[in-house]
Amino acid sequence: MNEFIRNIPLHCLPLGSKEQIIVRTHEPAALPAALASENPERVIAVQLLSLAADSESLNAWAAGLPVELVMADPATEFPLLYRHTPLLDQHPVRVVVPVRPGFFNAVKTAVALDFAVQLDVGQPDPALIEELAAVLKFYLHQSTVAQPIEYFQGALLGFYHEEPASLWAILDEDPQWLRYVADDGAESLNGRLAGAGIKTLAPEVELDVWIEQVLATHEECRNCEFLRHCGGYFKWPRRDYDCAGVKWLFSELREAASELRRDIEAAPVSE
Ligand code: SF4
Repeated sequence: MNEFIRNIPLHCLPLGSKEQIIVRTHEPAALPAALASENPERVIAVQLLSLAADSESLNAWAAGLPVELVMADPATEFPLLYRHTPLLDQHPVRVVVPVRPGFFNAVKTAVALDFAVQLDVGQPDPALIEELAAVLKFYLHQSTVAQPIEYFQGALLGFYHEEPASLWAILDEDPQWLRYVADDGAESLNGRLAGAGIKTLAPEVELDVWIEQVLATHEECRNCEFLRHCGGYFKWPRRDYDCAGVKWLFSELREAASELRRDIEAAPVSE
């Protein structure tokens, strides 16, 4: 039997089960007390949904527990990242940046402050593809970028090692494992699959079967050269999304991986 990881709002605790959880809240100060009676191994991450909230109470709490800072509006909220940098002393911290106009500044700020970045990429329109291209160039060529920017890093490594992982895996949206519990307690698939009306497969069914039978059934995906790197990710939730821009981004990542391999092969071997 598969054990799901559930993303739940803090007010839905406790669920009365032993399954692993990601807890999300707008009130970080409430977390230490609310989770005091939880098995620490059950909580695998916390998500802070309000960057304006004070996260100081988490600085010395649950060392090592991953923290995600979830941005709503990157164009206006990026200055709020500064107040959360003390979290980095005790926690791996990732900033989830929605790909909306002006998100490049948020990515640059997050990386400069030493936060990992996860792009909530959605189904980007042509203007956002241009901004994504600028972020990709920054990620590939800016030597000061020491933190991963996903999905670029996962896809680049997949091309480089010729071991592709789909975006469902890279962006932590694997429907085999993840379930989302809404504020009213209703449970659904996570992320872009929530509300898509998908009939879930048996719990033991693995991601590659999900991709084959559900996620990448669109005809364009069947013939797509990037199927193994994408997994049909961009065809959700709107099935008629035009993938031309995201395919171009994949081709840039593939070329960057080839270039990296050529550089490494040409590098002198030290004795
Ligand atoms: S890039 Fe588009 S067509 Fe290709 S696999 Fe992904 S969603 Fe399908």
